[in-house]
Amino acid sequence: KGTLIQSDPDLAKAIEKELARQRRNIELIASENFVSPAVLEAQGSVLTNKYAEGYPGKRYYGGCEFVDMVESLAINRAKELFGADHVNVQPHSGAQANFAVYFALLNPGDKILGMNLAHGGHLTHGSPVNVSGKYFNVVAYGVDEKTGRINYDRLRDIALTERPKMIVAGASAYPRAIDFKRIGEIAREIGAYFFVDMAHIAGLVAAGLHQSPVPYADVVTTTTHKTLRGPRGGMILCKEKYAQLIDKAIFPGSQGGPLMHVIAAKAAAFGEALKPEFKAYQQQIINNAQALAKGLINRGFNLVSGGTDNHLMLVDLRGTGITGKEAEKLLDEVNVTCNKNAIPFDPEKPFVTSGIRLGTPAVTTRGFKEAEMDQVAEIISITLKGKDNPAAKEQARAMVKELCDKHPLY
Ligand code: PLP
Repeated sequence: KGTLIQSDPDLAKAIEKELARQRRNIELIASENFVSPAVLEAQGSVLTNKYAEGYPGKRYYGGCEFVDMVESLAINRAKELFGADHVNVQPHSGAQANFAVYFALLNPGDKILGMNLAHGGHLTHGSPVNVSGKYFNVVAYGVDEKTGRINYDRLRDIALTERPKMIVAGASAYPRAIDFKRIGEIAREIGAYFFVDMAHIAGLVAAGLHQSPVPYADVVTTTTHKTLRGPRGGMILCKEKYAQLIDKAIFPGSQGGPLMHVIAAKAAAFGEALKPEFKAYQQQIINNAQALAKGLINRGFNLVSGGTDNHLMLVDLRGTGITGKEAEKLLDEVNVTCNKNAIPFDPEKPFVTSGIRLGTPAVTTRGFKEAEMDQVAEIISITLKGKDNPAAKEQARAMVKELCDKHPLY
């Protein structure tokens, strides 16, 4: 017994400082969110003590009757949420989920066609520094330089020429809706597997506000954090015919014991996502993204593709005299958190970049609405345009404090 502050003050203080940071800052990292107290409680539970290799009803350890209930709740809720035939809730993360999909369906040396990382794709979709790029023969599709949108005709041309064994869709920094139906048709045309990583947009998909990939893809993965507002973790959804292959690729293929406390937190989050309020929340994320995009455009900023359909946008800083790296730092100094991000055809190096990625899931959880998003656009504008002006910085910091005080967190 005893609290962390008594037993380990150094650690407790670091956690306390992080809580204070989350309360103080406007969080615009598109992949982050604030989970509910129920999700925190489930994740901080005694389930962390339990080994449960295997799956509900087929475990390699005794004493699994209650964790079986937990995992079954998570699976059944996820099936209902996304209309999936089969669900595996054990991946420790999004990257682990993706690794398992490759391990289940491909052999080293097979060809995959994924979205270019520099155009908004994810590391696990074939980047040379990731196992997906090291073990497979990767070809990439991207966005059109003029429109900033995926060029589906070009994607089809590449698919017909290259005949990959798998097409991977999904992105980390793409502000527009993705036509999964269209890419699925291309995959079928060449007899390739169609794998969708819907990590960023899973919450929008669950709420019916983005086309679902589930009817069109052989396998779909997601993270359970981000828009879905669950604990950090991964999940795989698939057609019944791949169920065994996928389950085996997770355990024993690439993971050991499942994190039962995280699976409990996933179940809690899926339960929340099945409620009508979740749809209203997701709609507000989109409304807020629209309001932020409009606020930035009105203040003279350029956005990749000219706007957004989802929860995020990419600000194209070329011509402003500020790099993505500098913008991230300047905003950090006024307690606005975001990340530098390459824009398509970026002239700068990946560690510098010409863009920042902004997302609305976290501020929407905090209660920000359209009016607050216009204020956020003003804060960004004041900060970046007044980069050499200490008074501008002070003004921006005061505006951040006012917004955060008005919408307390936890
Ligand atoms: N897939 C996509 C599209 C992502 O954006 C991310 C995270 O940024 C991941 C996978 C990886 O998820 P994790 O960080 O949980 O491994």
